[in-house]
Amino acid sequence: MALTTCKTCNSSISTDAKNCPGCGAKIIKKTSPITWLIAAFLFFCVVPPLISNLDPSDNSTMAYIMVKKNVTANLVSPSTAEFPSRSNEHVKRTGDVYYIDSWVDSQNRFGATLRNHFTAEIEQTGPNSWQLKSLVMN
Ligand SMILES: [Zn+2]
Repeated sequence: MALTTCKTCNSSISTDAKNCPGCGAKIIKKTSPITWLIAAFLFFCVVPPLISNLDPSDNSTMAYIMVKKNVTANLVSPSTAEFPSRSNEHVKRTGDVYYIDSWVDSQNRFGATLRNHFTAEIEQTGPNSWQLKSLVMN
């Protein structure tokens, strides 16, 4: 338990106290550095992705659909392909280039369901045109 000084009457009081026991003044707590760190983290790491989701030029969903098509075409059993439902978590955008790091579950030639991880880089070259720059599956 740390001590602080009441700004109104200058008596020593606990930092945990809500009011000064001497004069009853409300204690205004200083914001701790950790609170600032958390606030900064939220501001720089959590808010920008939320804003980018609202960006009308962000076509992450479309980029993911285009990559899914290419990935599916490379599978032994395309009809059994299952991708994660929340696609936006797997897409990173830099300008018109989208980086996708995700996975697909599908059956192999023996009917066993296996998970394949894939990474892809796809560029939007026009309103409705896309160019797959790389696709690595394992
Ligand atoms: Zn006081």
